[in-house]
Amino acid sequence: MKRINSIILLLFATVSVAQTDTRLHTIIDAVSAERIQKDVTKLVSFGTRHTLSDTLSQTRGIGAARRWIKSEFEKTSTTCNSCLNVFYQKTLIKKGDNDRISKDVWVVNVVAVQKGAKYPNRYIIMSGDIDSRVSDPNNFTSESPGANDNASGMAGTLEAARVLSKYEFENSIIYVGLSGEEQGLYGGKGLAEHAKEQGWEIIGIMNNDMIGNIAGVDGVISNRDFRIFSEPVPPTESEKERKSRRFYGGEVDGISRQLARYVHKNVKTYMPEMNPMLIYRLDRFGRGGHHRPFNDVGFAGIRIMEAHENYTQQHQDIRTENGINYGDVLEHVNFDYAKKLTAVNAINLASIAWAPPAPAEVKIGGIVEPSTKLKWTKVDGATGYKIYWRDTTSPTWDHSRYVGDVTEFTLDGIVIDNFFFGIATVGANGYESLVVFPNGIFR
Ligand SMILES: [Zn+2]
Repeated sequence: MKRINSIILLLFATVSVAQTDTRLHTIIDAVSAERIQKDVTKLVSFGTRHTLSDTLSQTRGIGAARRWIKSEFEKTSTTCNSCLNVFYQKTLIKKGDNDRISKDVWVVNVVAVQKGAKYPNRYIIMSGDIDSRVSDPNNFTSESPGANDNASGMAGTLEAARVLSKYEFENSIIYVGLSGEEQGLYGGKGLAEHAKEQGWEIIGIMNNDMIGNIAGVDGVISNRDFRIFSEPVPPTESEKERKSRRFYGGEVDGISRQLARYVHKNVKTYMPEMNPMLIYRLDRFGRGGHHRPFNDVGFAGIRIMEAHENYTQQHQDIRTENGINYGDVLEHVNFDYAKKLTAVNAINLASIAWAPPAPAEVKIGGIVEPSTKLKWTKVDGATGYKIYWRDTTSPTWDHSRYVGDVTEFTLDGIVIDNFFFGIATVGANGYESLVVFPNGIFR
C-alpha cells in the first residue's frame, strides 16, 4: 500500500513538473544581483539625474545618465545579433507646463525593443525611471542619488534585457528607461502617446518604481513581500460599459487587474518563496507612478514595488536631522531583493511574450439556467483555451478548466450568479495569454 502510494505520488510529481517550463527557472537564476549593484552604483555616480539637470557633461546630470543607459542596451544588443532596437523617444515640455517645469526641457526616454517573431506589433513593456529628485522637486543641482527611487527599477530593466535577449519570443518586448517621472509622469505620457501614434498593440506595462528597499518605516523588514498595484477598471471605459457593469459584474476585473493576477500566479508557481501582494488600487494613496499614463490611454498597466517603504529615504536632501540619516543613498538598497523583483518581471515578460493573443471577444450566458455558457472569438495560433472562474470574493482565479480548441463551452452545474469567469488562450508551448473578462452577453 505504501509502495502504491509513493508510485501515485511520483506520478503526480511528474505531472506537476510538466506544467512548468524549466526555461523560466533558468531565467530566474540568470538575473544577477551583482550586475544590478554595479548599474545602480553607476546611476548614482551621475550625481543628480533630475529631469532639468545638466545634459552636456559626460559625467554628471541626466544627459550623461541617459547616454550611459543607451550604451548599456546597445552593449546587450551586440551579444544577441543586434536583437535590440535602441532609440531615444523624446517630448519637448514647455516652461510652466506645471509648477515643476521651470524651463523648457526635452523629456527623453531610452527605449530598447526586442522584436517578436510571430506577433511583432504586440508589445509587453517593462519600465524603470531615469530621473531622481531631492526635497525640493525643482532643485536640479543638489546631490540626488535616487538609488532606490528609481535607479533600482532602471537597473532591473537593464538586467532583464540582458537575460531575456538570449531568447526568442513570439511577441515583442520593450525595455524602457522613462524620464520626467518626478516632474509629472511626462516620460510615460510621451511613450504611451508614441505607442498610440505608431499603432502598437500594447499588452501591458509592468512599471518598476522602487524595488530595492526591504526595511520599512513600519519597522517590518522583509525580503519576500512585494506589491502589485492595479486599478480596478480602465478610466477610458464608456458610460455604457459602466452601466452594464452594474448588472453583469466586472468591478474588480479590468485589464490591469488581469495583468496583476497573471503576475501573481506566475510568481506563486515559479518563485514560491516570494509573497506577492495584490493591491486593489491604482497606486499608493494619493501618489503616482509611470504606469498611470498608460492606464490613462486605455492600456493595461501595473506597478511592481517593495512592500515596506522608508520615507526618510525618498525625495530627501542628504542630511542628518535628530539622529536620522535622510537621503536615497546606495547603502539602503538590497541588491538580492532587487534581483528577485527583476526576476519577477523577467518571468512574466517571457511568459507573456511566449503566449498567443487573448480572445478579442468573450461572451457569457446562463441567466436563470443551471449552467454557465461561454463563447469567444477564435485566436490564430492558439492550441486551445482555458476557462477560469472564482468565487466573487476571491482575488485570484482559483478554478480552471482546459477545454481544447473550441470557441464555446458550457460549464455544467456551475451557476453563473455565484462566480466570476474569464477565458485565456493557450499556445502549443503551454504559455497562456492574460485572462479576458466577458465583454458581452448572450442568451
Ligand atoms: Zn519618486
